[in-house]
Amino acid sequence: MSSLNFPFSAIVGQDEMKLAILCAAVDPRIGGVLVFGDRGTGKSTAVRALAALLPKMRVVVGCRYGCDPAEGAAVCEACATLRAAGKLKSKLVSVPVVDLPLGATEDRVVGALDLERALTAGVKAFEPGLLARANRGFLYIDEVNLLEDHLVDLLIDVAASGENVVEREGLSVRHPARFVLVGSGNPEEGELRPQLLDRFGLAVEVRTPQDLASRVEVVRRRDQFERDQAAFVARWHKDDDKLRKRLVAARERLPDVAVPDAALERAAQLCMALGTDGLRGELTVIRAARALAALDGEAEVTDDHIRRVAKPALRHRLRRDPLDDTDASVRVDRVADELFGA
Ligand SMILES: [Zn+2]
Repeated sequence: MSSLNFPFSAIVGQDEMKLAILCAAVDPRIGGVLVFGDRGTGKSTAVRALAALLPKMRVVVGCRYGCDPAEGAAVCEACATLRAAGKLKSKLVSVPVVDLPLGATEDRVVGALDLERALTAGVKAFEPGLLARANRGFLYIDEVNLLEDHLVDLLIDVAASGENVVEREGLSVRHPARFVLVGSGNPEEGELRPQLLDRFGLAVEVRTPQDLASRVEVVRRRDQFERDQAAFVARWHKDDDKLRKRLVAARERLPDVAVPDAALERAAQLCMALGTDGLRGELTVIRAARALAALDGEAEVTDDHIRRVAKPALRHRLRRDPLDDTDASVRVDRVADELFGA
């Protein structure tokens, strides 16, 4: 019995998480998405559902990094040679979702010397790691706050640059590694250093629904899905299809979405009023608002888009105020309400 993915459209509530990963899927340069919340709130379900929703992607046949055969796309050395010779063959594959297990070593993540081949054949071959598998897809880390800082740092660097560079053990390998990083965390179990928090593009909070109707609906759909996956997926097919079209259109539209000066000023006002350090906050607000405008099918970024991404883009960048222990989300809301009107 094959196991199907829970349809993205059938996820009850969790609007902020859905919005954040949709924006990141439209523009991976937004940076990773950090999902904080209770266990069992479907954090990884949403990521898997979104990946399953995306259209299959074209990859170079035989490439271990899932290189994109499209004209002008960054590719590995072997694919570059094939392309120059006009010998690139491609096929369609599903968008990957790679789980980064806790306790994964750096070797496992970035790739390493293939010891077996080195010992038996005397060949210095590279054994690709999880970053290679995640190329052009999603890298999901459960309990990111329990991962060693240097690994989180490394993952964010690679996600930002879109390239994995390995220079050690006599190896020199670089390959494309562009992925959406999604880290889930339980606020009670270890904290991320503020410097790391700030490097994630968006941060969202998910909660177990507190109203009766939503709880009933969550359980009803789960139960229906488990009893007959195929029938459930078929029932949601139309909605997922609509969303897929919206996503594909948004990706195409993204480069043409205008960011007027007024929007840049709004983002800056917001960050100044909240006292965020540096300019990463503004940049993320603008990128996420642009992705949202693209999803909405609009030609330019408006106040409405900025208002809707303010919380996920900024709540993890606020400095702790010893005189004000108000929750970060509440502080962002308060400032945004003052600026944009409630
Ligand atoms: Zn390649």
